[in-house]
Amino acid sequence: MDLWYTEKHSENVGISLKITGTLFSGKSEFQQLDILETLEYGRMMLLDGLVMVTERDEFIYHDMIVHPALFTHPQPKKVLVIGGGDGGSIREIVKHPTVTEATLCEIDGLVIEKSIELLPSMAAAIDGSNPRVKLHVDDGLAYIREHQDEYDVILVDSTDPIGPAVGLFEEDFYRLVFGALKEDGIMVAQSESPFYHAEIQRDMYRNLRAVYPIVEMYQAFIPTYPSGYWSFAFASKKYHPVSDFNRERAAKRDFYTKYYNEDLHLGAFMLPTFAKENISA
Ligand code: SAM
Repeated sequence: MDLWYTEKHSENVGISLKITGTLFSGKSEFQQLDILETLEYGRMMLLDGLVMVTERDEFIYHDMIVHPALFTHPQPKKVLVIGGGDGGSIREIVKHPTVTEATLCEIDGLVIEKSIELLPSMAAAIDGSNPRVKLHVDDGLAYIREHQDEYDVILVDSTDPIGPAVGLFEEDFYRLVFGALKEDGIMVAQSESPFYHAEIQRDMYRNLRAVYPIVEMYQAFIPTYPSGYWSFAFASKKYHPVSDFNRERAAKRDFYTKYYNEDLHLGAFMLPTFAKENISA
């Protein structure tokens, strides 16, 4: 008998992946954590039954939540990730030679522990081996209150706006992040799917525009996320991701990025009409 995992993207639509085994299944104080072996996407992490990352397509998400900000900011040194317990964002951040300190603030220690144990291709930089990496097991909301005016870039690599992540999509949180950023800082947050989450996006971008002078959406294709059409919010105090982008600097990077490149950086901000209209409302 074949075993399938299905994530419903709406009442009548979902994605199914054939499963060959369960590597871990357990409940932390925050959520259910499962790590499954899939036939076509490698190992896959679920939180409360929703796809977080798979070994096969995580490079897209982690390239795109990290590199647009770190190649727009002229010299990112101190970077904070809120959420991101799988370690993929930190792995991409420490590729940047300008970064002197990459901090992870993840609310659920079990996610970190199981990612190090079972998802080593993502968690390699958070296993304690990199001196530039600092780990905190804490609520991002609480952490950010204690760390004002400290970071060049803050990435909100959170779960969807349910459970412990609800507060990470509110205007108050964006004001706290604004305060935690230096005067030319940049925040990026995963901002769900323009195809399925129009209402969440309208609220999120309205909340961001109430706080940041520059707010732009950019996109990426992530096959295991709802509709495969995913987005990120770029919120900046000073630098615009297109007009202030130094294409030469990105082109001369001395590390490989399997999805991101200096041309795609610009293309990612060129949105389809329906997505643009929805957040300009
Ligand atoms: N790439 C995934 C996505 O786009 O859905 C996110 C992956 S990462 C595993 C999401 C992490 O956010 C989870 O490990 C979860 O525990 C963490 N998280 C949720 N709410 C949080 C909060 N308030 N503070 C810190 N981490 C939080």
